[in-house]
Amino acid sequence: MSALVVEALCKSFGGLRAVDDVSFSLGETELLALIGPNGAGKSTCFNMLNGQIQPDVGSIRLYGDEIVGCPPRTVWRMGVGRTFQITATFSSMTVMENVQMALLSHHRRLRALLPFAGGQYRDEAMALLDRVGMASQAGRACGTLAYGDLKRLELAIALANEPRVLLMDEPTAGMAPRERLQLMRLTADIVRDKGVSVLFTEHDMDVVFGHADRILVMNRGRLVAAGSPAEVRANTEVQAIYLGS
Ligand code: ADP
Ligand code: MG
Repeated sequence: MSALVVEALCKSFGGLRAVDDVSFSLGETELLALIGPNGAGKSTCFNMLNGQIQPDVGSIRLYGDEIVGCPPRTVWRMGVGRTFQITATFSSMTVMENVQMALLSHHRRLRALLPFAGGQYRDEAMALLDRVGMASQAGRACGTLAYGDLKRLELAIALANEPRVLLMDEPTAGMAPRERLQLMRLTADIVRDKGVSVLFTEHDMDVVFGHADRILVMNRGRLVAAGSPAEVRANTEVQAIYLGS
């Protein structure tokens, strides 16, 4: 079964068709890349997938359930998580406290209002930090973390919500090339063992072609190619877009 099925999605801003009749599916535990030049419509797609903006027409089903028409909070609760380009951690809190906060908010959504008491979800938080290779930094204040470590912490925070689908908008932006490949390798491992499906945008073509299971290519609002890295690399329309001809 597909995790997400997107059909005939359209969004215009004034006269501009930012997303024009886009259809695709995201397979279960798939790592799917969405690429394309600036202004192609990638972020607009992401914003519709998490309910931040509503499409003019089209359908987005998460394991069969329609999410078009649902506000972001509902879409999040249904299991669509998102990491952001701008880091959203609390800088004066420790690494551990940030993950505990995320777990608390997740469990609050699942059950009634839980009071916050220090120490809650420590083992669960530590397991997540361990999973992203951050256990040794659990006691550090987030504000003192290196950029690459902050990105791994963000991944742990996103996972605290037990998403079924995780949207990652340029997860490796601002990282050194070696760190980028490490973060994507870690993401690919987690996708497989936690059963999460990931859609990500990325500028670094080494990351995209080295790690994505499949690649979607957008240009001027339209989906112009979809396939395996080898298929997309051989696509003449894609080559033309990236060579600017
Ligand atoms: P990408 O993420 O691929 O760079 P975007 O989805 O951000 O592309 O943008 C697609 C097009 O839609 C661009 O031409 C952009 O200027 C336009 N656009 C995006 N958001 C808005 C908005 N809120 N209002 C008007 N135009 C927008
Ligand atoms: Mg964008």
